[in-house]
Amino acid sequence: MENLNDKNVKLANLIFPEITKTVEDLEKIYPKRDLKEGAFVTRFAPSPTGFLHTGALFTSLINQRIAKQSDGIFYLRIEDTDKKREVDGSVGLLTSEMKIFGIYPDEGVISDTEEIGNYGPYTQSKREEIYKICAKSLIERGLAYPCFCTTEMLDVTRTSQEKNKIRPGYYSNYARCRNISIDESIAKIESGEKYIIRFRSRGSHLKKVVFVDAIRGKMEIAENDQDIVIIKSDGLPTYHFAHIVDDHFMKTTHVMRGEEWIPSTPIHIELFNSMNFEVPTYVHFPSVMIIDGESKRKLSKRKDKEAAVSFFLDAGYPVDSVLEYILTIVNSDYEPWRAKNPLADKLDFDIRLEKINSSGALFDQVKLNDISKEVIAKMNSKQVLDSVLEWSKKYDIELYDILNKDLEYSIQIFAMERDNATKIRKDIFKWEDIKSTFVYFFDSLFEKYLNKNGYIFEKDSKIVNDVLSEYISIYNENDDKDTWFSNMKLCASKLGFCTDMKEYKKNPENYIGSIADFSGIIRMAITGKKNTPDIYSIMKLLGKDRVINRLNNAK
Ligand code: GLU
Repeated sequence: MENLNDKNVKLANLIFPEITKTVEDLEKIYPKRDLKEGAFVTRFAPSPTGFLHTGALFTSLINQRIAKQSDGIFYLRIEDTDKKREVDGSVGLLTSEMKIFGIYPDEGVISDTEEIGNYGPYTQSKREEIYKICAKSLIERGLAYPCFCTTEMLDVTRTSQEKNKIRPGYYSNYARCRNISIDESIAKIESGEKYIIRFRSRGSHLKKVVFVDAIRGKMEIAENDQDIVIIKSDGLPTYHFAHIVDDHFMKTTHVMRGEEWIPSTPIHIELFNSMNFEVPTYVHFPSVMIIDGESKRKLSKRKDKEAAVSFFLDAGYPVDSVLEYILTIVNSDYEPWRAKNPLADKLDFDIRLEKINSSGALFDQVKLNDISKEVIAKMNSKQVLDSVLEWSKKYDIELYDILNKDLEYSIQIFAMERDNATKIRKDIFKWEDIKSTFVYFFDSLFEKYLNKNGYIFEKDSKIVNDVLSEYISIYNENDDKDTWFSNMKLCASKLGFCTDMKEYKKNPENYIGSIADFSGIIRMAITGKKNTPDIYSIMKLLGKDRVINRLNNAK
């Protein structure tokens, strides 16, 4: 125990009379964790200010994976010391959105009402006593002091610093209350003056603090010399103080957080040292970026719909697609790994911190679509149907009802060019697209679709009508595929279409069109689209009556 100055102790007792426990007591309450050598203890520490952001999904996924990979612990801490910014219901929303993505904390906050684990409470507003014990110890050791400056006084200092182009802040001569004598401080407190608690920095802006960031390597930044606020007027700590107290007593080995915290790291290192706490390893993640016109910028909570993970859920991207996509932006060797191990569980891939690209994780929806169509291509028809039902039940009840009406029919739609296919059709990126992609399988949707889009025939209506009438006369729903195709060819050549593509390319002027044009007219009449899976299979599934009806209606 250091030799304490009586006056400091008196001041500390005056400020925190109710605090009787000491830092040593806390060390006993929160002992070293019993984990194997090299296990990582990581955390995700959101402020309850709303939904789960895409950047936060990136952060929490890496934190969880890194802990799991090392048989460590991943916990969730709620940083709710800024009561003004808090949004009701956020904790429930954050925890449930994390669960959807399979990010379950081993410890900490697990729902809006529950916490688990021995290192809690894991909600900062419930830890007031712990912060005060630590702040009291700093005051006793002369490393923290009460500050009586009013907002107006601080404003005056800031304005004059700005005007004179002086580094802003509460430091050195600008730290007005730093040099108030303890007797005077005691007198002010006893007379009822309002105050907050500031840290007494011993750093120098002219010296550098060096630390190793697990992604960025050796970092050298000017030491902290600011007497930052540690306990605010509402009795709660600032982020800086809560961070060092919590990560120490929760035994975090790796503080993995957004890069916006890099400039504050010297403050944190000085605070850890002043408390005689070991400094954890810092890992600062790059921000998630987005292309905006010609340039890149940070994904913005306010401007970009993709900044909320609910955007992906609403659109019906499978959770696996989003996770798979995030892994590709986390580690550049994920894609080659996936190419080599197409069927492996994505969790078999070990994330490596040193492989994270520090210059920014670029969010690109086209890439997400590419990945998602591969993920969906690996599903069989039953998995697709189940997923679409689950999604549509919540997001598109019309689709849900239509699919549910005849599940046998619905599954056959998704089985087409999928189950047992040598080449799987990859035309679904997300469940939201199902309706428009497969609109022609459902009469009620098809009608609406046609009202909006109409048929787009590339031949004039006389030719279209001839094709449709002639085709109706030869169509037989029982034909096998070969007979069906040869009949189509016969019909086509009778009407002056060329059935040999090579010949058609040589002498197009001799024909009305090619066999592709002919079948294109049939496809358009039946589906309203130029591109679909194999039209023979579609006609089979639709059945004779609907096929004939559609051919007639398109005339
Ligand atoms: N509550 C802080 C934030 O949301 C957490 C930063 C950290 O992980 O330490 O940015």
